[in-house]
Amino acid sequence: MFFFFVGGLQQEIRQVLKSGVGKCTFCANNRVDLVNYDKVLKLFFVPVWRWPAKDPLLYCGGCKNFFPYNYSLPPGGDGESASPTAVTDALRCRFCDRSVEADFRFCPFCGSEL
Ligand SMILES: [Zn+2]
Ligand SMILES: [Zn+2]
Repeated sequence: MFFFFVGGLQQEIRQVLKSGVGKCTFCANNRVDLVNYDKVLKLFFVPVWRWPAKDPLLYCGGCKNFFPYNYSLPPGGDGESASPTAVTDALRCRFCDRSVEADFRFCPFCGSEL
């Protein structure tokens, strides 16, 4: 007789790619890491086969949950903002409202200090 429940496929972290990419939605407190992982086939708690997974996963060390990489985590971490700030080449003069290059100290149009 074969006991299916003593074997199974598990996920084991191989490498942490980036730590603190977000907060866990389940245990809320813990920071979630982006990890590469191995799939491990276990039988009677003994790993019998292991192979690397193609895609990274998000892993919460607090509740031991894995999430797909595209899982939307609430923003967290320590202020590391993922949103790229819009690249502005030009400032705008607050007096004459014309665009001025960012490294100008004075507006070339109206002479105001920027
Ligand atoms: Zn968690
Ligand atoms: Zn101006």
